[in-house]
Amino acid sequence: MGAANGVVWANEWIEAIEDSGSFGEDVLKAGARLARNQSFVDVEVAPGLLSGRITHRGSTYTAQLGVQVLADDQWSAFCEQLLEQPAKAVALILGELPDGCVDVPLVPSAGELYPDCNCGDWNGVCVHATALLYEAARLIESDPFVLTTLRGRGRYELKSAIESARTESDGQRAGGRVSGHPRGEDPGMPAAAAYRRQPEELPTARRLPLDIGEPVALSVPPPVDSGVSVDDVHALVVAASKHAKNLLYLES
Ligand SMILES: [Zn+2]
Repeated sequence: MGAANGVVWANEWIEAIEDSGSFGEDVLKAGARLARNQSFVDVEVAPGLLSGRITHRGSTYTAQLGVQVLADDQWSAFCEQLLEQPAKAVALILGELPDGCVDVPLVPSAGELYPDCNCGDWNGVCVHATALLYEAARLIESDPFVLTTLRGRGRYELKSAIESARTESDGQRAGGRVSGHPRGEDPGMPAAAAYRRQPEELPTARRLPLDIGEPVALSVPPPVDSGVSVDDVHALVVAASKHAKNLLYLES
């Protein structure tokens, strides 16, 4: 999930480390190589802390990476800025971490990282802790919410913060007149009737399109009191198509 943007975030993470000048070039190379050749086990991701064990030259070491978490007001700013961009907010709700849309520094600077290891190498940051920096990039690539978790807020916390802020602002826009009743001329089919229907024959599967096309324009705008704009629906359809495509390709 969110893997499409994971590469972007992982690259930013690596750049912040490699361009900082805080780590020696040799140890970075050795750490990257170790992370490529050996897998970390018992990897744990928690707010402000990443840890894992790695075997190197016959011994197993526990490396840790402390990460400075973002302050509450920085997370509030993150949510507020995201909410100003409905498509991005919807993307986050659907499991993407949109990139480049907020000015809150999700990727920590090298000074906000605290690598540690039990190998007893006191000569600066050891190769195991450095390998963990690259392991972090690999994890972020496959799930960018590893990054937000290390910075203090996980996927579900962010999702529910954005969702409840949206519900609140939708309620305000609709002047509190949100009802649970069907709206418009076509109220649809009662759930019980839909459940009793005989399933129809499924059509033969066609080849999946490689690209997601532009959604068909809505011929009827959503009801005024729905609190949803045409742009919201458009963004939702695009994000849902992307999400569905990712799932289909992952499973094929
Ligand atoms: Zn070490």
